[in-house]
Amino acid sequence: MTSQPLFGQPLALIDRIVEVLGDEATKEDAVLTTSFSMEDQVLTWAVLEAGLDIDLVSLDTGCLFPATLQTWKDTERFFGVEIRALRPDSGALDSAGLSQIYASTEGRKACCNARKIMPLKAACSGKKWWLTGLRQAQSENRQSFQHIEEAPAWGLRKFHPLLEWDDAAVEALVSSSGVPVNPLYQLGYSSIGCAPCTRPVLPGEDARAGRWWWESSAKECGLHRS
Ligand code: SF4
Repeated sequence: MTSQPLFGQPLALIDRIVEVLGDEATKEDAVLTTSFSMEDQVLTWAVLEAGLDIDLVSLDTGCLFPATLQTWKDTERFFGVEIRALRPDSGALDSAGLSQIYASTEGRKACCNARKIMPLKAACSGKKWWLTGLRQAQSENRQSFQHIEEAPAWGLRKFHPLLEWDDAAVEALVSSSGVPVNPLYQLGYSSIGCAPCTRPVLPGEDARAGRWWWESSAKECGLHRS
């Protein structure tokens, strides 16, 4: 990992993560989920810069863009760590496949449940903290999120250290740290999930407008809000 000296906000981010997790910054107690978004790359950078050894995971839904899978490999090489893949149970996919995702929100959520929520619930079992790179600026739905939220359905607390960061702060840290960036950003994607459910956004659109674009839902897969 190579990084240049950083001042102000990045150091405050590291301090905040260390302060909140305290002696629970362990693989047994804390998990960081990454989709290799720019926000998640910043968060991974901060956790590793702080020297914390927590559980680093990503959802390998079976539907990721090849560019995202390449960014995953590049990220492991850059940081010198393994990012554990969470994969769906094949039995769960039998009743919730891709064929229904455009037919109804319920069908789409069943797929998200099988490919994302169930594997992540297994990974969260027994843990106390779940760190995410969510930001309020990503969507209207996320503006009411709190830095630390009780998540009884998951049996832990969620911690969103970047909640109030703006685009410029994220991009500045991505640039100065040199972390790998998913090349799909260059093609107009601003929030990158599974390939069948993600399109680029148009100028002026919400950052998550390209996720499940055919729905008028809250643009969430159920990991944070439904
Ligand atoms: S984002 Fe789409 S493909 Fe991915 S799990 Fe959800 S419905 Fe399935």
